[in-house]
Amino acid sequence: MPEFRQPAEASPGTVYLVGAGPGDPDLLTLRAHDLLLRSDLVLFDNLTSSDIVAFAPQGAERRYVGKKRAEHAFTQAEINALMIAAARKGKVVVRLKGGDPYVFGRGGEEAQELVRAGVPFEVVPGVTSALGAAAYAGMPLTHRDYTQSVTMLTGHDVDQIDWKSMAGRQTLVVFMGLTSIAEIARRLQHAGRDPGTPAAAVRWVTRGDQEVVTSTLAELPSAVRREGLRPPALVVIGEIVRLRDEIDWFAKLPLRGQSVAVTRAAAQAAPFCQKLRRLGAEVHPIPVIEFEDPEDWGPVDRAICSLPSYDWLVFTSVNGVDRFVARLDASSRDLRDLPRKICAIGPATADRVRSLHVAVTMVPNDFVAESVVEAFRSRDLHGARMLLPRAQEARDVLPVQLAAMGVQVDVVAVYRTVPPPGSRALARAIWESDNPPDWVTATSSSTVRHLASMVPADRLRRSRVASIGPVTSGAARELGLTVSVEASTFTTDGLVQALCAHSAANNVLR
Ligand code: SAH
Repeated sequence: MPEFRQPAEASPGTVYLVGAGPGDPDLLTLRAHDLLLRSDLVLFDNLTSSDIVAFAPQGAERRYVGKKRAEHAFTQAEINALMIAAARKGKVVVRLKGGDPYVFGRGGEEAQELVRAGVPFEVVPGVTSALGAAAYAGMPLTHRDYTQSVTMLTGHDVDQIDWKSMAGRQTLVVFMGLTSIAEIARRLQHAGRDPGTPAAAVRWVTRGDQEVVTSTLAELPSAVRREGLRPPALVVIGEIVRLRDEIDWFAKLPLRGQSVAVTRAAAQAAPFCQKLRRLGAEVHPIPVIEFEDPEDWGPVDRAICSLPSYDWLVFTSVNGVDRFVARLDASSRDLRDLPRKICAIGPATADRVRSLHVAVTMVPNDFVAESVVEAFRSRDLHGARMLLPRAQEARDVLPVQLAAMGVQVDVVAVYRTVPPPGSRALARAIWESDNPPDWVTATSSSTVRHLASMVPADRLRRSRVASIGPVTSGAARELGLTVSVEASTFTTDGLVQALCAHSAANNVLR
């Protein structure tokens, strides 16, 4: 049996100064993840990505206390007061900080304040952006052939730094130094550093939109200007920057440089987003649907009452399985009353059924309604009774064709898809921006339809459509969109593969 790790407890009335890492949510520590799951209040700023803040539970208060994006810029004293007041009310307070709290993060000052206030606290280290840049931009900070030391410094106030001493150091990592890069480069050279020393600036390290500008110490300021690189970025100076060409694995990932919108329901998007991210894509989760109870449970409850009278149970989605089983659990019947024969429309749906330790009788070859009909054709189904629990707004192909074969089909709605609050504004903002996603992934007809009802087609056409299969592609085309990529296996894995293949083919052409 695998051992499952349970999230550890958090103490009420405690402040946790937590490093959120450099951006990639998978680089969060287990402790940070546990504490976010247990948090009542999360205080975050602009260096912590929204994907990480989203780990906090629904009921937790998530408060932005950064200096940008807000009408009111919080002072350090106000942030301290907020933390202390919430802890005194018995809350689990997570103070999230980009990278590590004790690396240019004011974590030290906050810890001192908490000691003064007598509030218990714990510090959770994070992967500092310096190490994120090293790993994801191919710059091993202490490669022994090139350097024996590394120095981290702030470029915030150049007059505070002893540049004579810095010029003699080997690897330098400058935080908050992008806006003053010209001055930093000038002072280092003036103090004797070789103008030809390799140097790089890395923006949004470890994220899908990471950008790297590589040059020499003398030329980096103009290269940064030319590329329009903006903060937050780290500047790395030293011979190890040379190694980028050889070992920059991140740049070589198949979906590197591509931005991909994922429109699935939040509850189902995470594994798909993660897969895309691990292949180097910049992922924009934009959940355009969420699932709600059907308007009327009556038909489902009646079907559950007479469950043993059905010969077949047909599931067409993972969500259909979950919703049906939840309703079954709440009834006086249970899994022992399920029909002997169960059909699942695709591998993910079949896996969900099997996870209940219930065998699946049939999984059609292609994962669309038409294939289910084909698969049933080879069996004598005349007079058979079939139960089909699914989305309220699903297509009629399956029931109509099954009925034509003499099957008695009962279709019952176990959920409906509705737009979540705020999704329209988010979708519009994304497609009205200067930089819309390269791709929009279409994983079902209903997500495409909901998206198209939120964003005008001429805007959506700024992204290419990657579709999970022919039915979804058809829905996209009906809405005036062009489908550039279609999966040949109709699953999210198939869709990811099709995107990678498309990307590889285009890279060859380039
Ligand atoms: N505690 C943070 C640093 C905070 S100081 C850490 O350990 O990384 C803020 C500076 O850190 C920024 O100006 C930038 O230079 C750097 N920085 C933080 N996060 C970054 C990121 N994701 N990408 C690039 N630079 C980052």
